[in-house]
Amino acid sequence: MRTARQLALRPAVTAAVAALALAATLIVGAAPSHAATCSAYVGLTFDDGPSDAHTPALLAALGRYGLRATMFNEGQYAAAYPAQVRSEAAAGMWIGDHSYTHPHLTRLSQARIDSEISRTQQAIAAAGGGTPKLFRPPYGETDGTVQGVAAKYGLRQVIWDADSQDWNGASTDAIVQAVSRLTDGQVILLHEWPPNTLAAIPRIAQTLAGRGLCAGMISAQTGHATAPSG
Ligand SMILES: [Zn+2]
Repeated sequence: MRTARQLALRPAVTAAVAALALAATLIVGAAPSHAATCSAYVGLTFDDGPSDAHTPALLAALGRYGLRATMFNEGQYAAAYPAQVRSEAAAGMWIGDHSYTHPHLTRLSQARIDSEISRTQQAIAAAGGGTPKLFRPPYGETDGTVQGVAAKYGLRQVIWDADSQDWNGASTDAIVQAVSRLTDGQVILLHEWPPNTLAAIPRIAQTLAGRGLCAGMISAQTGHATAPSG
């Protein structure tokens, strides 16, 4: 049973509900357009995969939070786990070349550097990951010879602006903090195998969203993170 007072409140309540509904419509309407909510882009990179042991869980975690990343695959693992390369591509990840056997490239002859890079390009393409446009030398070690060979295969060399130190036993807190310091266009080094990196994914997503940052692609033209174009 309604009192007179409740009835008098109804128009105000109805207006408030209508306003909320409008706000909800606006929020929903904005969601598909990432440009509207992304003030800047950063590049998340995961090295040393793919593998049956780590790639599925990493892709599931990234997918849960709508994060896209660049996976710098080793050719030997792309050849061993081609289905994981396809999973990375199907999940919207970008796939880069991280050499075939992860050697110290600057200690090798030009012919062996060429073999490391070219065999990886072939292995990733053969697995269904497309032909990479980005290359990261193992350990970030490079020189003019390495860059020259990469350029021969149309590859843009990408090192990193920030090292999460996840390979060196960094805590989940430290990994999240490293991500929180990224600025527009920057690229961070992560790996697919450390448990702390997988554990950090939800908070990485939260940290980026809180700063209006989105996980973008790395431009083969500039080497910096930018809005995804495909
Ligand atoms: Zn590596």
